[in-house]
This record gives sequence, structure tokens and C-alpha cells, in this order.
Amino acid sequence: MVNKESYQQIIHELAPKQVKLVAVSKTKPIEDILALYELGQRDFGENYVQELIEKQSQLPQDIRWHFIGHLQSNKVKYIAPFVHLIHSIDNEKLLHEVNKQAIKQNCIIHCLLQIHIAQEETKFGMNEEELKNIINKKNNESAFPNIFLKGLMGMASNTVDLSKIRNEFKNLKSMYDTYFQSSPSNKMILSMGMSSDYAMAVEEGSNAVRIGSLLFGARDYK
Ligand SMILES: *Cc1c(COP(=O)(O)O)cnc(C)c1O
Repeated sequence: MVNKESYQQIIHELAPKQVKLVAVSKTKPIEDILALYELGQRDFGENYVQELIEKQSQLPQDIRWHFIGHLQSNKVKYIAPFVHLIHSIDNEKLLHEVNKQAIKQNCIIHCLLQIHIAQEETKFGMNEEELKNIINKKNNESAFPNIFLKGLMGMASNTVDLSKIRNEFKNLKSMYDTYFQSSPSNKMILSMGMSSDYAMAVEEGSNAVRIGSLLFGARDYK
């Protein structure tokens, strides 16, 4: 079930700050996505390739699909024809593969680099060295010609220690400021914040939040 009140409230909160809402619809049915679509939502995020391509084929074609989950190289080809933004580039090899598929599609694919900011072992992402390396290759060697690097994504630790979460967001924001500059014609993206921590993420400079359970209810993984 979609929580329309929660949606309206979040939109009301984010719009004046020009923060983009990506509605994370993983595991949720088509009808739930349509319910938010009818309220005007166009940006949706999914984590699983198979699920995304099934939904994409059944839903309105003006939805902007964000891929936010761990992406395997051998599956990039399935989403390359339509994906709006990949938030989860967590290694250079994956970026090479996305570039290759973009060349095949004769398009430019917009990507965020996912940075590992949490202390937990399980979360994917690169460190600042790897980030710097990719930026240098792109700028100095014209690497990844069919990739547009649009910014950074990160997930904070899953903890009740708010000061820890805040520090992780600050750390990501400072990397974003170092490596990405928005211009009036090209708005860069700092994708940070989920249901539990989006307000803090916005305070710390996020301009794109990925919210699932507050909009669609808790997920039921079978
Ligand atoms: C599932 C997911 C979200 C949304 O999580 P909620 O806590 O339901 O808001 C955001 N970002 C990523 C990368 C996710 O996998």
C-alpha cells in the first residue's frame, strides 16, 4: 500500500530545497508505482535487473528509471537501452562495461560513483583513491567517452548513532565538493539519504534522496 500522505509531505519538504525524490519501488507491485505516478512522481529506483526490466516494459514510458542496487557487469546490457541514471557504479571494471554498452546503444549513460562511507563491511562502494583515479582517467585520458559522470552516491551506516551517520554524510559531501561542480546547464547529483536518514542527508547537502519504505511501506522479502 502506498502512503499518499507521506508522499505529499515529503514532496512538500523537498521541493523548496530542490532535492530530487527517487521513489524506491523494489519488491513493490506495478499498482503501487502507478499510484505514485498518478500523483506526479516520475523518478523511480530499482535494485534488481530482472525486476526492473519487467516493470519497465509494463509501465508508462516517461518514467525515469534509476538503478540503485549492486550491478553485475553481465547484466548492464539489459538496462542500458533505457536507464536514466545508474547510482551504483562501485568499481572501475563496471564503468568500462557500462561505457561499452553505451557505445553499442550509441548513447551517453549518466552514472554516479558509489562511495563506501559506512563502517559496515557489507556495503558496496569505492574509496577516495579509486574515485580520484576514475576522475583523472576521464579528464586526462578521455576514458569512458560514453559515460557522463554526474556525481556521487553513498549509504550511511545502519546505526542509531546519529553523529556517526552525520559524519559519514559530511565525508561524502566533501568528496562531492572536491570532484564535482555544478554549472547552470549541468546540475550534478549527490545521492544520499533513505527513509531513516533523509532529513539529515539533506541538511548535509544531499540533492537526491532514495526513499522506499516511507512511501510504499515495509518490504517483505520472500
Ligand atoms: C532499498 C534502498 C533504498 C531505500 O530504502 P528505504 O529504507 O526503504 O527508504 C535506498 N537506497 C538503496 C541503495 C536501497 O537499496
